[in-house]
Amino acid sequence: MTEISKEEEKSLNFIEEIIEKDLAEGKYNSILTRFPPEPNGYLHIGHAKSICLNFGLALKYGGQTNLRFDDTNPVTEDTEYVESIKDDVRWLGFQWANELYASDYFEYLYDYAVKLIQKGLAYVDDSSSEEIASLKGTPTEPGKDSPYRNRSVEENLSLFADMRAGKFKDGEKVLRAKIDMASPNMHMRDPIIYRIKHAKHHRTGDKWCIYPMYDFAHGQSDSIEKITHSICTLEFIPHRPLYDWFIEQLGIFPSHQYEFARLNMTNTVMSKRKLLQLVNEGHVSGWDDPRMPTISGLRRRGFTPESIRDFCDRIGVAKRDNLIDVGLLEFCLREHLNKIAHRRMVVFDPLKVVVTNYPAGQVEMLKSEDNPEDPDTSHRDIPFSGELYIEREDFMENPPKKYFRLAPGQMVRLKSAYIIRCDEVMKDDEGNVTELRCTYIPESKSGQDTSGINVKGTLHWVSISQAVKAEVRLYDRLFKVEDPSNEEGDFKSYINPDSLQVISEVYAEPALTKAGEGDRYQFLRKGYFALDKDSTPEKLVFNRTVTLKDTWAKEMKKN
Ligand code: ATP
Ligand code: MG
Repeated sequence: MTEISKEEEKSLNFIEEIIEKDLAEGKYNSILTRFPPEPNGYLHIGHAKSICLNFGLALKYGGQTNLRFDDTNPVTEDTEYVESIKDDVRWLGFQWANELYASDYFEYLYDYAVKLIQKGLAYVDDSSSEEIASLKGTPTEPGKDSPYRNRSVEENLSLFADMRAGKFKDGEKVLRAKIDMASPNMHMRDPIIYRIKHAKHHRTGDKWCIYPMYDFAHGQSDSIEKITHSICTLEFIPHRPLYDWFIEQLGIFPSHQYEFARLNMTNTVMSKRKLLQLVNEGHVSGWDDPRMPTISGLRRRGFTPESIRDFCDRIGVAKRDNLIDVGLLEFCLREHLNKIAHRRMVVFDPLKVVVTNYPAGQVEMLKSEDNPEDPDTSHRDIPFSGELYIEREDFMENPPKKYFRLAPGQMVRLKSAYIIRCDEVMKDDEGNVTELRCTYIPESKSGQDTSGINVKGTLHWVSISQAVKAEVRLYDRLFKVEDPSNEEGDFKSYINPDSLQVISEVYAEPALTKAGEGDRYQFLRKGYFALDKDSTPEKLVFNRTVTLKDTWAKEMKKN
């Protein structure tokens, strides 16, 4: 049987089908997509889906992708967000063809509005927002015309110029498209296209006091850039007739809008408004808190761009809204980390082991594979001595049957080292185990074992005098329920109070002092870890990126 690659095996998604048809029919010579974030927050995993889709399609079909900041709302936007967005897109592994800003098109958009007025297709309305709303009708009842709907072209032109010139206060007037107050689509009932806002814009400063609405800026920006396939999420389906109407009335490049289902994920929230609340109210330490579903949070936690791209690829492109299990994201992460993570031994809760027959003061360097999954792996040196730490939970004084870890009289292998036997258990006055006296089997050295002894348990360990101390931060789901946004009451009442556990002192093998920012580690039997940005040479800090196995799936079944 011939091997079928992952790529060929998968059928085309509906957007790929459209693109292939458009290219085959010669509608376009090449495709141009765009990723259009509003710089009013940090990107999250949902945006990653959109990024992978837009950039991925262009890569697949030899086209290009623009990064366009949809910065038409001066009040909530900021340059800080622009920089973080650029950083995140780059980190995900994509390079945009052009960095563009809707605010660069304000002059064009103004001219387009003037053109609509001249064609009798837009008018200045003096009504208050309440009055406009009251005449809008309902989905089952037609709306009513505004008393200002039939102003003359001249009057509209002069009023719109006055709006731009700053002659009116916020909310005093708006410019509306003149379409159809009886349309079954509420978006077509004379939508507002410009509003007055005396606010400083992060790029245009005080130049403008009127700003275009999303619907008037987005499609025209697509058209100015000659975007061929403008991909957005399902909630924009009812906006599409308006998108097309503007393009048709203005006679500009016919970009087309296509909609797919937004990514929703379990045990988190995704809207920027909600994420902002978590940040502002101190439920998390910031946008890049490792529990946040933001790209910067995932990155700080130790996620790899490869695993996020793989996840976005696996969930595919849906036409109906759904809720994706965060377990799938973690599955993709484990798959990748297993391949690339350096293996290290770290003891979280130490129990001292004295190897009584090991020469006092001797330290021996043992070799261990850096990553057994990597064919080109190198080896690292691990110091072994007569005084070690093992994990307290790896010892039991009165073990049940089939207990393969350490117990009085029982033997285990120390990973990459020797087999030891527990001879004696030392306790303090209260009966707490303080130390184990063990003997080692000199012929049982890993890789050259001639002892003939078979043991079932292998433990991780560190040599005490060479061990380095570190802090580890263990994370769990930020929310206790699957879909906090769909539960009764405030979504924040479903925050998991145990989503962060800090262990301020663990003991690591010395090779970990060389850890760098991009390095990924598997702490044997403990999970995958990455260095946190709080780490210093004096105090190493590691984030647990993900556990070795999906323990949560089991928990959910129990509940
Ligand atoms: P939010 O609703 O989270 O505040 P947004 O849609 O307002 O996000 P934008 O900055 O406008 O955020 O989004 C930029 C692009 O990312 C848009 O094309 C949008 O459709 C897409 N996008 C946003 N959230 C998701 C998501 N959860 N899944 C897929 N695409 C998304
Ligand atoms: Mg938006």
